[in-house]
Amino acid sequence: MVSTAPPSTPVDGVDGGVGVTALLVAAARAIETHRDDSLAQDVYAEHFVRAAPASAGWPLRVEDAPDEDRNPLWGRFARYFGLRTRVLDDFLLRAAHTGVRQVVLLGAGLDARAFRLHWPAGCVIFEVDRAEVLAFKHRVLTGLSVTAKAARVPLSIDLRADWGPSLADAGFDPAVPSVWLAEGLLFYLPSAVETHLIDTVDRLSCAGSALAFEAKLEKDLLEYRDSPLYLSTKHQIGIDLLHLFSKEPRPDSAGDLAGKGWSTSVHTPFEFTRRHGRGPLPEPNDALEGNRWVFANKP
Ligand code: SAM
Repeated sequence: MVSTAPPSTPVDGVDGGVGVTALLVAAARAIETHRDDSLAQDVYAEHFVRAAPASAGWPLRVEDAPDEDRNPLWGRFARYFGLRTRVLDDFLLRAAHTGVRQVVLLGAGLDARAFRLHWPAGCVIFEVDRAEVLAFKHRVLTGLSVTAKAARVPLSIDLRADWGPSLADAGFDPAVPSVWLAEGLLFYLPSAVETHLIDTVDRLSCAGSALAFEAKLEKDLLEYRDSPLYLSTKHQIGIDLLHLFSKEPRPDSAGDLAGKGWSTSVHTPFEFTRRHGRGPLPEPNDALEGNRWVFANKP
């Protein structure tokens, strides 16, 4: 069961806890943006990195990182996030161009898709994250005086609570198709919260809806505790991802969706690296080995 009680762990913005991971991804997107062979453009990302004390001194270009592309964090891992951004940009825009007008970004963090992608007229983008993360995002975007390219509805929600009613109160309509995204989110959540999230997405999705999410399939995340990605993230910027990830056995969310009648496909990121001609490829002791990008459609 998911409790509707306030969370007992301390709530934080982007200065610590899981919130700081939103800054990590923003920094990776800034680096991707400045690459000559960039896979995705996010001109807002570097403003978030510059604005937060927690990311003071982080590089905004790969040339500014020690060892540049050979740096496991700012080279390979950042490229992973760049590839993920591109693949999920394409996924969302594909849904929008086939007529879906409601977009729900779960654990949106510093995702600036509402500002940087060209949405068809009539799209509304719900950005769900915790209040402190959205407050920081609002502060930075307000300072930039930018206008979203779609109607944008930031929603302060802790996904550990029963969040479906808040989405409905904010204008989400379950009777029309929607496209959902859980990018870099599920492995931070307790297993029961993930199950509740998937159930809620299913319940609020009519035929024609779509969902993409990222999962980690490793049975034991700690097996990769000394992988270059985890170690360099911890040592260079003090983020211990393994500490932030839930250690509970994960639900089979792709299987659960298939059981509810969704059609699903599960891909490694490396498939997209090959498709785009750039991005991470497998390596020994690879923290990305269990990562999967799951795409689901409700017929
Ligand atoms: N999806 C964004 C992206 O890819 O840029 C952000 C990813 S960041 C790694 C994880 C995000 O999930 C953070 O912004 C964090 O605040 C959010 N998050 C984690 N647990 C959450 C919860 N219980 N409720 C709402 N948001 C949560």
